[in-house]
Amino acid sequence: TTRIVTVTMNPAIDLACTVPGFAAGAVNRVAEYQSDAAGKGVNIAGLLRRFGLPVAVTGFLGTENARIFEKRFSDLGVADEFVRVPGETRIGIKVLDPESRSTTDINFPGLAPDAGHMDRLAETVERLSGEAEIVVIAGSLPVGVAPDAVGRLVQVVKAQGAKAVVDTSGPALACAVDAAPWLVKPNDDELAELVGRPMESLDDLVAEARRMNAAGIATVAVSLGARGAVFVEDGRALLSRPPEVEAVSTVGAGDAMIGGLVAGMALGLPLEERVRKATALAAATVMRAGPALHDLNTAKVLESRIEITNLQVGG
Ligand code: ATP
Ligand code: MG
Ligand code: MG
Repeated sequence: TTRIVTVTMNPAIDLACTVPGFAAGAVNRVAEYQSDAAGKGVNIAGLLRRFGLPVAVTGFLGTENARIFEKRFSDLGVADEFVRVPGETRIGIKVLDPESRSTTDINFPGLAPDAGHMDRLAETVERLSGEAEIVVIAGSLPVGVAPDAVGRLVQVVKAQGAKAVVDTSGPALACAVDAAPWLVKPNDDELAELVGRPMESLDDLVAEARRMNAAGIATVAVSLGARGAVFVEDGRALLSRPPEVEAVSTVGAGDAMIGGLVAGMALGLPLEERVRKATALAAATVMRAGPALHDLNTAKVLESRIEITNLQVGG
């Protein structure tokens, strides 16, 4: 049986090209390139498979260039439940110039699913939620999909008795929070946007996370980049700090943190251990180029170096 489902409404094909001496308005030659089937829910599914957990993936996928995703899903051993939409899944080109150490991003427009596709996705999520323990909804929304789409899916998941985990931003996050999912993980900027003002201190941030916890979100994680993350659950608040690591690429740090928290939930671990695992996995991901970990060893070694402190109410 499927224990975990990830939903990616706006996946992407990442095409990373190395172009030494890249110049606009000139002929540029690609020295090396790599294309990957990506998207937050897809990355999270990959990490969950490293823990041997049964996973199904869904969301929207363009019919014209679905092959690279289908190959990744079969390599990962995840059930492909993506709703197919006519057209192409968006491509993101990253031009890396090792000489100037610059990165140029060229982002294609994505798919435009219609109301019928959205209904099919909601039906798929409903069916999968009936058998699943946890459903992770991650990433941005494609053009034309209303911000309340994530909130609608959270309600579908909850009605089936599964736990909804949400990682998104802006109006979609605001709608999702209103539907009270099991877990949210905004970063500090996303929390400030949600609350409508910048956070003034760690106390201020913890107070906002506690408010969301009291409003029915069981676990509120607020990630703070290299400074670690705050976790509020059952009225408790923990600050988790990673050791200083050499940051090669922060791409996928948030996905690793969600993957670690969700794996910890599926394995029935207590809060401290979930927090330790998630913080270690995120730090290990930052130490590598690209969003994925090769194995769990680096993260395992980092676990003992994560500093976790209890934050007192109001202090
Ligand atoms: P994403 O861009 O993947 O969505 P995010 O902005 O949502 O990321 P961050 O807060 O940047 O999330 O990172 C998530 C977690 O990754 C942090 O809480 C932290 O534990 C870990 N992390 C990020 N940067 C570093 C770093 N330089 N060193 C160690 N750990 C890091
Ligand atoms: Mg960040
Ligand atoms: Mg994020």
